[in-house]
Amino acid sequence: MNKKIFFRCSISCAEVCCTGATLLTYKDIMHVYKVFPITIGFWKYIPLARADNDFFGEVGLAVNDFFVIGEFIGGNWRQKRCNALGKDKRCMLQLEGIKPLQCSLIPFSAIFDESVQDRIIQYQRANVFKKCGGFLDNTSLIWQDGVFVDKIVRDNFYQYRNLIRAQRPFMMSVIKDVRRSSSYRDFLYGKHGIFEVPIFHEVFEEFLILTGIGMENKGDFINHQKRLLKNTTNKEDVFSDSLKIYETYES
Ligand code: SF4
Ligand code: SF4
Repeated sequence: MNKKIFFRCSISCAEVCCTGATLLTYKDIMHVYKVFPITIGFWKYIPLARADNDFFGEVGLAVNDFFVIGEFIGGNWRQKRCNALGKDKRCMLQLEGIKPLQCSLIPFSAIFDESVQDRIIQYQRANVFKKCGGFLDNTSLIWQDGVFVDKIVRDNFYQYRNLIRAQRPFMMSVIKDVRRSSSYRDFLYGKHGIFEVPIFHEVFEEFLILTGIGMENKGDFINHQKRLLKNTTNKEDVFSDSLKIYETYES
């Protein structure tokens, strides 16, 4: 083996990766709920390595030959530009020291095992990250022969995986409530790549506790989410449903 991945992010092409939404862990949400409308997304994953099987079992739900794994979404992935991307292509959250952890990991994926990141990068380079300038670098060695050699990326990678583990009970509560809905079943057995839902009543309190926002800041969270949802130009169902839910709470 002599597989290597060199990568150094150059912000000149940030519009390639900083599109409408980013993935969030529950720890990010406290810092960014004034910037992004927050929803919950589920994806279907097929393991690439035996180690993926173990991890997917820890963080997701096994269904046939795939696993359903949930993550929080900040923003609207149908939009072209992230709310936090400044005109100078700098991340405003990075300047404030609150950039979501996932944004420090791209174009790698913390869902898949460290050993298969070369396959992830191959996929990324052929798809969304085709125009990513970070691969032009040939001095910053990040990953070699199945292991992250860059300490910061490695730390972020394992921190992200631990946070996904910790938020699994919440994601399972969500699935428990939606599992009989036709849209969830369409997602499971149809072609939909993503199943996205608002933070609905039944899981709202659990969400506030998990994220550390707490019942004491419930009103603040609702008011900011309402503002963001009213300003969103996209009338996707998940956003109008979110708004309807927040409007039922007294602020
Ligand atoms: S180098 Fe890649 S990851 Fe960095 S800003 Fe450009 S597109 Fe995004
Ligand atoms: S939060 Fe910052 S780094 Fe992440 S997608 Fe938005 S602008 Fe880019």
